[in-house]
Amino acid sequence: MTQFINTKETLVTDAIDGLIRASGGALARLDGYPHIRVVLRTDWDRSRVALVSGGGSGHEPAHAGFVGQGMLTAAVCGDVFASPSVEAVLAGILAVTGPAGCLLIVKNYTGDRLNFGLAAERARAFGLNVEMVVVDDDVALPHLPQPRGIAGTLFVHKIAGAIAEEGGTLDAVAAAAREVIGGAVSIGMSLGTCTVPGSPKSERFAAGEVELGLGIHGESGAERMPFSSARAAIETMVARLSTAGPAGPKVALINNLGATTPLEMSVLAAELLASDLGADIRCVIGPAPLMTSLDMHGFSVSLLPLSAETEAHLRAPVAPHAWAPLVDVVPVSVVAMPDGLTPLRPKPSADAVTGAFLARCCDVLISVEDQLNALDAQSGDGDTGSTLAGAARALKAAIPDLPLADLTQLYRAIGNELSQTMGGSSGVLLAIYFSAVGDAAASGHGMTRAFEAGLARVMEVGGATPGDRTMIDALAPALAALGDGVAAAAKAARAGADATATMGKAGAGRASYISAERLIGHNDPGAEAVARLFEHLAENPAETREQAG
Ligand code: ADP
Ligand code: MG
Repeated sequence: MTQFINTKETLVTDAIDGLIRASGGALARLDGYPHIRVVLRTDWDRSRVALVSGGGSGHEPAHAGFVGQGMLTAAVCGDVFASPSVEAVLAGILAVTGPAGCLLIVKNYTGDRLNFGLAAERARAFGLNVEMVVVDDDVALPHLPQPRGIAGTLFVHKIAGAIAEEGGTLDAVAAAAREVIGGAVSIGMSLGTCTVPGSPKSERFAAGEVELGLGIHGESGAERMPFSSARAAIETMVARLSTAGPAGPKVALINNLGATTPLEMSVLAAELLASDLGADIRCVIGPAPLMTSLDMHGFSVSLLPLSAETEAHLRAPVAPHAWAPLVDVVPVSVVAMPDGLTPLRPKPSADAVTGAFLARCCDVLISVEDQLNALDAQSGDGDTGSTLAGAARALKAAIPDLPLADLTQLYRAIGNELSQTMGGSSGVLLAIYFSAVGDAAASGHGMTRAFEAGLARVMEVGGATPGDRTMIDALAPALAALGDGVAAAAKAARAGADATATMGKAGAGRASYISAERLIGHNDPGAEAVARLFEHLAENPAETREQAG
């Protein structure tokens, strides 16, 4: 897959420069490119304990994005998924460590342990007071002697950062970090692998599978299982987290692994808070991308026992805007619907012929759903068929509640029904059309005038006129020909709809963003829907005769 990078070799330095330039002066880097990539705070005076973290790149915003007041003092960035060198880590330590000392926060991977560990030794040889903690929060493989460090690391950054900012000693900061590491548990889940720049994507997942318990470097998860729903996914994770961690009040960090949409992340948050663990989760951080794995379509949940002290440290303000603030979990608050939203419904009345006619019209729109979606895929977002079919299904279900025996009332009632059930342009335009037809009929106009009033209102509200490549190009000629019978109207609608395929420029709707070469040759879906409807009516004249007057 192509990515928005220049070269694999310059990826990390290019990204660091972007981060620094957009930091408003809060961040700087050491002059060590290309091999030494250390991001540091510009407001640092070495008077307090320095916090240095880092590791491979590809986990953004971790770690450079968390450099700043209240969190890290410096981040040492390796290549994608590769530990930085001893020299790079040492450079970071030497650049920020003063008499108060330095804590290295390292995720439990062999490369990071070795490089950060050796750098710590060498820094001590310079006379610096350096401590190191290793985060091992992943509970995917319960009996592993060396669990991995994943998103729970961020609890350590935040809490150690708050204590260091308050002026805590190196011993105090390190002890708090070790306590957090002892209490934090995390687990990840993903629907796919990540794309490592410059390497082909490994496609080990079959469609419909998830992996549970994965690291943040594209390595295989502990288990692969069928995916059914967000709820089931959270249930599985919660079962693992519950056995791994103690009961009692907790904070949850809900982390996007990179390519899960914010919409999905909110669904996952809702499910987590509704799960068996939900009652224990008092506060959340996220959902947000905090410790990502490039473009992985996955997420992780990290839990930490919540004491008053922990909460205060997690709540302490920080400068890095990549950090997601701790917030209280609250029940969904619901506000009463405003009055007057639901229109007075006219009394239902039965009329078998009208009811059957309406049902047939709905069936026509339902039957052409796929064809209309395919046309909308050419000129819009591929949903006209679904929008119209959805409306038709809702309308069909509402037939028994409609004033079928009173035509003047019926059109308004159809307009009301559509305006309640439909989104999308085609839906609301139909609602406008039927409401206007109903208004005109109710004020005593004949049906031909009423239909014309409907068309006029659609043109007025929607701003489109004939020739703009919309449903109007079929509707206007059809209504004009209706005086000569339904067959003439159907013929006119068909000619109008087919003419839209020759129009290289749309004057309204999403199609107006589309170039002529993509529009030419395809009918406008809204116009096609109108033509299909009239054609059906023409082919079933017995039903329509009742309605034409
Ligand atoms: P969207 O997905 O853009 O909300 P739909 O897919 O539901 O819209 O409907 C698209 C159809 O709506 C178009 O094919 C066109 O016929 C019709 N349409 C869009 N804008 C207008 C407008 N201003 N006036 C009349 N018809 C319109
Ligand atoms: Mg559409």
